[in-house]
Amino acid sequence: MRALTLVADRRLELADVSPAAAAGADEVQIRVRAVALNHIDLWGFRGMAFAKRKLPLVVGAEAAGEIAAIGAGVTGFKVGDPVVMYGALTCGACKACRSGRDNLCENVAGVMGFHVDGFARELVNLPARLVIPVPAGVALRDAACAPIAFATVEHMLFDNAKLEPGETILVHAGGSGIGTAAIQMAKRIGCTVITTIGDDEKGAKAKALGADYVINYRTDRFEHVVRKLTAKKGVDVVFEHVGADTFGGSLLSLKRGGRLVTCGATSGPTATLNLMQLFQQQYRIIGSFGASIRNIGDALAKMQAGLHPVIDTEVALEDFARGLERLESRQVFGKIVVTL
Ligand SMILES: [Zn+2]
Repeated sequence: MRALTLVADRRLELADVSPAAAAGADEVQIRVRAVALNHIDLWGFRGMAFAKRKLPLVVGAEAAGEIAAIGAGVTGFKVGDPVVMYGALTCGACKACRSGRDNLCENVAGVMGFHVDGFARELVNLPARLVIPVPAGVALRDAACAPIAFATVEHMLFDNAKLEPGETILVHAGGSGIGTAAIQMAKRIGCTVITTIGDDEKGAKAKALGADYVINYRTDRFEHVVRKLTAKKGVDVVFEHVGADTFGGSLLSLKRGGRLVTCGATSGPTATLNLMQLFQQQYRIIGSFGASIRNIGDALAKMQAGLHPVIDTEVALEDFARGLERLESRQVFGKIVVTL
């Protein structure tokens, strides 16, 4: 079967590998149909000195497909069912796993597509407990954006920042995969959304998606505009994933007692923190990574209710690297999906 493997930094090869073995006990076999790209793919592609992994490695961290075969003891799935996959190999037995906090598993064996073989291959076997059904009416291309992009946003906004209807939120990089999802999810519950973008064309698209205010961070200091827009009060929540370039301004954009939730540092990992400001303004800074299986189900339910991921581009498996380069160039608006 075909599998797309990372053989060296920035070098992908389409390989013909031996087909997956039959689904084992408590496993299902999935025919992969769509893989969505994320910044984690880009980190892996560029090469990460600290990542414990062996090359060649099958890439692809977020995907959707159809059940191809069912192992002994598995109930609740039948051949042909559309599904998405939880891409971290959790143990299923520790206290975090048992309480549904899958992304805090104490014995996680790696993130698929990053530490261990991922989803960019025709067939993959997984424990059935890591496989989530796709509700009727949701396209696999859309569903492929649920396990990482949509579920991460779900976890950030609702589990971590506890965003409530009527609040004001600043969403950074409103044209990114998670930015477009955050704008839509916050609008859906009746929040006021301010977003930052890097060019005016993306600004128009972000407005069409529901953003109330768009700030071009290349021409304006976003923290100044946010204070103006909120009558100097600041926002209730900042949705961070840009990191070094924006973190200080993000804190200045918060109101007293506001919450900053972050899941990324695409512009760099280091920022300074004024501790006086932190405690006097009573900020809450919350780190967020990944999502729970429940978040993925909730994201899929929202898709079924009409929330569609913004798809920037669809590319074939052979063009996976071109998709990554497009993501890296920041020319994207929404998600890049690779179809098999
Ligand atoms: Zn666990």
